[in-house]
Amino acid sequence: MTDGCLAVDIGGTKLAVALVTDDGVIHWRASRATPSRHVFAELAELCTMALEHASTNDMVLTGVGVGCGGPMNRPAGTVSPLHIPEWCDFHLAKRLESLTHLPVVVDNDAKALVMSEVVAMSQQLTNGRMELSNSTSNCGLMAIVLGTGVGAGLHVDGRLLHGVTGNAGHIGHVVVDPDGAECECGSRGCLEALVSGPAIERRTGTSAADVSDAERRMCGVWVGRAIASACATLNINTVVLGGSVGLGLGEKFLGGIDTALDTHHGAALLQRPVVRYVTFGVDAPLIGAAALVFPRSAMSMVD
Ligand SMILES: [Zn+2]
Repeated sequence: MTDGCLAVDIGGTKLAVALVTDDGVIHWRASRATPSRHVFAELAELCTMALEHASTNDMVLTGVGVGCGGPMNRPAGTVSPLHIPEWCDFHLAKRLESLTHLPVVVDNDAKALVMSEVVAMSQQLTNGRMELSNSTSNCGLMAIVLGTGVGAGLHVDGRLLHGVTGNAGHIGHVVVDPDGAECECGSRGCLEALVSGPAIERRTGTSAADVSDAERRMCGVWVGRAIASACATLNINTVVLGGSVGLGLGEKFLGGIDTALDTHHGAALLQRPVVRYVTFGVDAPLIGAAALVFPRSAMSMVD
């Protein structure tokens, strides 16, 4: 018998599920492209496959953790992901509770991403065991996801930051170039309008994976400007980057971020943040989704 949970990652291009044990290890996974219609039916099939696999492999599931594209309404328990138009104020948690008969926690995908880094830090501090020491509680941590959309999750003063409606960290709509491209939100020059996968493709005519070094560097400069603003506001000392687009942009992208921080991070009283990729790479969204429902005894930094 092994204890674990069902982790679900819902993005604009991919639906993924995994069985994750309470020590943060993925034991089984499956994914499909996000369909343009009947998204929940597709997701339900994946979840049912996961439940069957858990049952045949003696895994006891204690809950379902879901990272979903934003925005969400946390008090109402609904999601309205911009890249899944048929889900508007959609009661995702209730639907998954009915399907799985397990407790379900739904949160924004970027907030799940930051929780994956909390798991990584806790494992590093305890040589692989999931016990968190108080020394991580004074770490100001931001995780930025760059994919179909752009968002961030924040873990400050030892807890995940939610905000009034659960959408704290929506860095994708911080303006980093007032003369930049129009954004779907109605503004101009938002980070998401410049560095999301679709935005890069619109501007360059090629996919984010194939863009030039100069373009990778410029994306880094834009992200760096947003990081400088966030760090000045929240006194963050560690920034991790993830998402399918972010992970593929590489060293030139990180160099662009450094350049922007050289220019814009002028407040000498604030600590310059360490900026790096997420520890768990492509697995981070699922490990983070699982961390939303890890037992408090194992994840004392989860509020
Ligand atoms: Zn915007």
